[in-house]
Amino acid sequence: MSPTDPGTTAPTLLKVANLQKRFGDHEVLKSINLEVRKGQVLALIGPSGSGKTTVLRCLNGLEIPDGGEVSFSEGPTVAFVPGTTQKQAQVLRTRSAMVFQNYNLFPHMTVLENVIEGPVQVQRRKRKEAVSAAQSLLGRVGLAEKQDQYPHELSGGQQQRVGIVRALALKPSLLLFDEPTSALDPELVGDVLKVIKELADEGWTMVLVTHELAFAREVADEVVFMDQGVVVEHGHPDVVLRNPRNERTQQFVHRLL
Ligand code: ADP
Repeated sequence: MSPTDPGTTAPTLLKVANLQKRFGDHEVLKSINLEVRKGQVLALIGPSGSGKTTVLRCLNGLEIPDGGEVSFSEGPTVAFVPGTTQKQAQVLRTRSAMVFQNYNLFPHMTVLENVIEGPVQVQRRKRKEAVSAAQSLLGRVGLAEKQDQYPHELSGGQQQRVGIVRALALKPSLLLFDEPTSALDPELVGDVLKVIKELADEGWTMVLVTHELAFAREVADEVVFMDQGVVVEHGHPDVVLRNPRNERTQQFVHRLL
């Protein structure tokens, strides 16, 4: 895949407007607006509980927002209203794929079966083609030898690389990463970040929730700082991570960097 200019000239891939979500009395997302351009890496940072994971899950139809709109250019737009169903939200999964904090691999399936499950069962692709594409992707992340093993036989770093391959195998327009390295032992973090960086360099569009601020500075085109369900500040990593304007952002980044 050729790199795409992630600058302001690239077309918008995803637009999120006025996204709202509450769990009971707790208003977790207050009115989130985001725009992601093709080829852009957007890093979502903020304190624990600020709503970052919930944003990703809403983008992928894993949570149903109470209001707002998620729209993909050349793809589905879902306008959420009270009563929007899981099925209506799931259409968003035709454009994005999620990499989870705890890998979420199917424990009873081999690595290869995990990777081809979505392409064959959901996307109805031919098994032989799905296998061949999966093998090629596993080779890319150094896991060709592991295709017949089960998740529990792999290290956390290897499982997460399978998680990434499983997302790539769906050929999404947008990759969503939910703290992909936070469950890993420190010595395994580097291998996973390296894969993510390579994908970014190849031009994949991504939204990445992370506590790894140094990595966000290296890989992101734009950083969004969230706190208490709102976007407090967003912009170029050099601004948001080095010279934030907002006091809450300053306190957060100075604690972590
Ligand atoms: P972050 O990713 O920034 O740590 P989350 O999006 O995971 O934040 O959570 C935001 C808030 O929403 C937290 O207070 C969390 O406890 C709450 N929350 C998340 N998911 C649920 C849920 N399924 N039910 C109730 N509360 C939830």
